[in-house]
This record gives sequence, C-alpha cells and structure tokens, in this order.
Amino acid sequence: MKLVLASNNAGKLAELQAMFSGLGMTLVRQGDLGIPEAEEPFKTFIENALAKARHAARLSGLPAMADDAGLCVDAFGGLPGVDTAYYATQFGYPKGDDNNVRALLEQMQGISNRRAALVSTLVAVRHPQDPEPLVAVGRAVGEITREPVGSNGFGFDPVMFIPEFGQTFAQLPVEVKNANSHRGKAARAMVGLMQERWL
Ligand code: IMP
Repeated sequence: MKLVLASNNAGKLAELQAMFSGLGMTLVRQGDLGIPEAEEPFKTFIENALAKARHAARLSGLPAMADDAGLCVDAFGGLPGVDTAYYATQFGYPKGDDNNVRALLEQMQGISNRRAALVSTLVAVRHPQDPEPLVAVGRAVGEITREPVGSNGFGFDPVMFIPEFGQTFAQLPVEVKNANSHRGKAARAMVGLMQERWL
C-alpha cells in the first residue's frame, strides 16, 4: 500500500519508511507527487496534522499521513507548541535552531519549573472524508537546562535533559535518542494503530 507523507523532509521520510516497511507500506513524499504544502493555520498539533493529511489525501487520491511537532513548556502553558520553529522570531532573532535555544534560555531565566516535552502528533487518513483519522501522539519529557550541553542532534536537543538517561538529547548517541524521541514513540504507536485498524 502506498502512503503519502505530507512532509518533504528527507530525514523524516527515511526514519518513518524504516518503521512502516514492516506493514508493507511504501511512503511517498507529497512533493514527489507535485503536491504543494498545506496551510497550517491552527493552534494545536492535531488540527494542523489533520489538515495536512487531508490535503495530501485529497490531492493524491491515496491514504496520507502528516505530523506536527514542537516544544511544549509547562511554565508557558504548553507554548510555544505549534509556533516552535519560529519561536526566536517572537523576540526579534532570525529563525533558527541556535536562536531558538538562546531565546528559550532567556525567557526561562528565573523560572524554576523547567519541565517541558517535545511532542509529535501523527495523523493518518484513508481518504479526505475519513471520519476516523488515526491519531498517535509521542512525548519526550525532560527538563530545560540552564545552558546548552552536548553536540549531537538538532533543535532543542542541547537543552533537553532527559532524567531517565541523566543526559541531554544532544549527549546521547543518535540511535538512543531516536528510539526514545517523541517522533519514534509516535511512529511506533501509529504502526500499531494501522496494524489494528487498516490492515
Ligand atoms: P518539526 O516540525 O518536527 O521539524 O519541528 C518543529 C520544531 O521543533 C523545530 O523548531 C525543531 O527544531 C524542534 N524539534 C523537532 N524535533 C526535535 C528534536 O528531536 N529535538 C529537538 N528539537 C526538535
């Protein structure tokens, strides 16, 4: 079965393809089918992921899956959430991982509740009118450090301290991080849902 992935990120495709090939599914990037990116106007991960999956299913005529992800900080009521990629721009910095980390550490100065989660929401639909989208959420819970530690990974990895490992995501080997990341957890849950409901 072909499944359209509503993302053009080659890294995500490779990571997900490895997990979904066991179901006999071949993932195809929407860009490779000439499908433009959908709008993401909503404030929740699930609404954006559903909008992207529906859009890809409508334009491809195939089942489709989309993800939306970001950082949710307890002390900020779960924000920046869907605006994570552009977080630094709220404070006048150019968009980028290093500036996101800098802005986050500045905004959290003096805040003692450091708890935060990286969250990935995956949504899959069989067709654009599917009344029962599959929804899988993966969370990696940690504590935001006071300064960056470690050099692996990307994004918020250097400030995401994972208590169960006693290290930041940027200190862990990539395989360990991927096996325990929000993305890995969401993808495993989605594989289970598809097995149970679609196959
Ligand atoms: P994306 O939509 O999954 O590409 O990511 C949204 C935002 O969350 C971007 O700012 C990423 O840098 C950040 N992010 C996503 N996944 C991770 C991760 O595994 N570690 C650190 N930051 C991440």
